[in-house]
Amino acid sequence: AQPQQKQADQGSFDLGLENVEYGNVVTRFPPEPSGYLHIGHAKAALLNQHFARMYSGKLIVRFDDTNPTKEKEEFEESIKEDLRLLGIEGDVISHTSDHFQAIYELAIRLIKKGLAYADDTDQKTMRDERMKGIASKCRSQSIEENLRRFEEMRQATEFGQTCCLRAKMSVDNPNKAMRDPVIYRCNLTPHHRTGSAWKIYPTYDFCCPIVDSIEGVTHALRTTEYRDRNPQYEWFFPALEIRPVVIKDFSRMNFVYTLLSKRKLQWFVDTGLVSGWDDPRFPTVRGIRRRGMTVEALRQYVLMQGASQKNMLLEWDKIWSANKKVIDPIAPRHTALLKKELVPVTLSNGPKESYVKDTLRHKKHPEMGTKQTVFSSQLFVDQVDAAGFAVGEEITLMDWGNAVVEAIDGEGVVSNVVMRLHLEGDVKATKKKITWLGQDVHVHPAEALLVDYDYLITKKKLEEGDSVEEVLTPKTEYTDAAMVDSNVGMLPRGSTIQLERRGYYIIDKVAAESELGLITLIKIPDGKLSS
Ligand code: ATP
Ligand code: MG
Ligand code: MG
Repeated sequence: AQPQQKQADQGSFDLGLENVEYGNVVTRFPPEPSGYLHIGHAKAALLNQHFARMYSGKLIVRFDDTNPTKEKEEFEESIKEDLRLLGIEGDVISHTSDHFQAIYELAIRLIKKGLAYADDTDQKTMRDERMKGIASKCRSQSIEENLRRFEEMRQATEFGQTCCLRAKMSVDNPNKAMRDPVIYRCNLTPHHRTGSAWKIYPTYDFCCPIVDSIEGVTHALRTTEYRDRNPQYEWFFPALEIRPVVIKDFSRMNFVYTLLSKRKLQWFVDTGLVSGWDDPRFPTVRGIRRRGMTVEALRQYVLMQGASQKNMLLEWDKIWSANKKVIDPIAPRHTALLKKELVPVTLSNGPKESYVKDTLRHKKHPEMGTKQTVFSSQLFVDQVDAAGFAVGEEITLMDWGNAVVEAIDGEGVVSNVVMRLHLEGDVKATKKKITWLGQDVHVHPAEALLVDYDYLITKKKLEEGDSVEEVLTPKTEYTDAAMVDSNVGMLPRGSTIQLERRGYYIIDKVAAESELGLITLIKIPDGKLSS
C-alpha cells in the first residue's frame, strides 16, 4: 500500500518550468537507439511533449547515437514507430552525430583554453586515482602536447588509441562526477550513420550540454540519477562559451515485478521466455499497448505523477485502473463462454425457430450501434453458473429476460438444464444475471482463445546482485478456449471489448492471423486483480 500512498501525495500535475518565455520553450527527448522504448522512456517522452505544448514551444526528438558499439539503425526505426504509437511527433528530429564536427571543434577549443587534456593512463589506474582524488600524470601537460595527442586519437594511431580526452574540472571535488570526466574516447566500430569518418566519439557527458545548446534547447529534463552530474553539465557552458541551458530533474519510473533494463529484457527475448520485444508481458511501449493500454491513460498517468523528484516503485493497479476508465465507455459488450464448461440449456417454451435480432453493443452508448444476437430454444451457459442453479429458481438471461429453472441433470458436473422463459419477470429482482449464447443454423458463435498473463518475475523489486533466473515466475501465460458471439469474429485486430462478466479484452489476432484459426483475445488488466 505504501507506493500508492506516495502516489497520492504527488497531487495533480501543476509543475512548471523556471525561466520560461512563452512560445520559446524547447525541450528534447534523447533516446539512445540501442533498444525498444519502455514505459519509463514513455514518461520522459510524454513529459517533454507536455512542456513543449504547454508553453507553445518545440519538441526535439534526438537520437543520442554516440556509442557505435551499442547502436543500430533498426532501433531508430522502432523508436520512431513507438513514438508514433504514443502519439508523439517531434517538431524536429535530430541526431547527436549530426554535430560530431561541431563537438570536435569545441573539444579543440577546450584544449586550447587549457581546460582539457589527453590522458594515456590505463583504465584501472585512472579509476583508482579518481577514487582517491589524485591528479593524473598527464594533467599538467602542455596545450601543444594535448593537441598532438588528441590528433593521434582522431587518427586512431596505436598510441592515440591508448588515450582519452578529459575535461579539467577538478581532481578531488567531493562530487566524483566533477573529477576530470572523460569527454572523448576512441572506438573503431563503424557508426551506423557516419560510417568510419570518426574514430573518436564524444561521451554522453560532453555531448549533452553541447548539443542541447546548439539545438536551441531551453530546458533539459533529466532523470534524477543524473543529479550528481548537473554541476558538470553546467560547467561546460562558460568553459566552452556557449549558450547555457536550464536543467530540470524528474524521477525515474519503476514498477513492481518489472524489469526495465534493456539488457535484462534482451535476455528474456534471447531465451525465448517471451515472444519478442512486443510481448504483452513486457513493459515496452509495444508490450503494454498490445495488452490494451491506451495512450490516453498512459499520458494521464504520467502527468498525474508530474515532474516529481521522488524515485518511486509503482504498482501497476493505478495505471490499469486509469486505463479502465478510458476504455469502459468505448468497449462494446460481447459474450464468451468457456468451451470446457459449456452446459446445454433447453427453453421449454422458447421460440420454435431461432431468430436473430439487433441489440445494442453498449447500453449506455447507443451511438456505438448494434450487434446480432441469436435467440433460440437451445442455448449454452457456463458450468460455473449452471452448477449454482436450483430447481424453481428465477434467473435473468442477460439482454433477454427472466427464466425459471425447471430441471438440472448431472451429478457434481451439470450436463443439461431445462428452463422456462418468464419474460414478464422483473429483471431487477433476480440475483443472477447469466451470460448465454443461442444456436442458429446461419449465425454461428466464433472460436476464441482467451489469454491472461502473470508477471515475469516473483520479486517486487530486484536488488543489485539478484539473478533474474532465480526469481522467474514458472508459468506466466494462461489460456482458455472459448466460444464468443459471432460479432466478435468481425472485429479487427486491436479492438478493445468487454466480455460480459469476464472483463476487458483486446483482439490480438483475428482468426485468419492465428495458427489455430482462433481469435486471440488478451485480457486487459483493470487494476482490480493483481495481474
Ligand atoms: P535503459 O536503462 O532502459 O537502457 P536509458 O536511460 O539508458 O534506459 P535512453 O535511451 O538513454 O535509455 O533514455 C532516453 C530518455 O528516457 C532519457 O532521458 C532517460 O532519462 C529516460 N528514461 C529512461 N528510463 C527511464 C525511466 N525508468 N523513467 C523515466 N525516464 C526514463
Ligand atoms: Mg541513456
Ligand atoms: Mg540505462
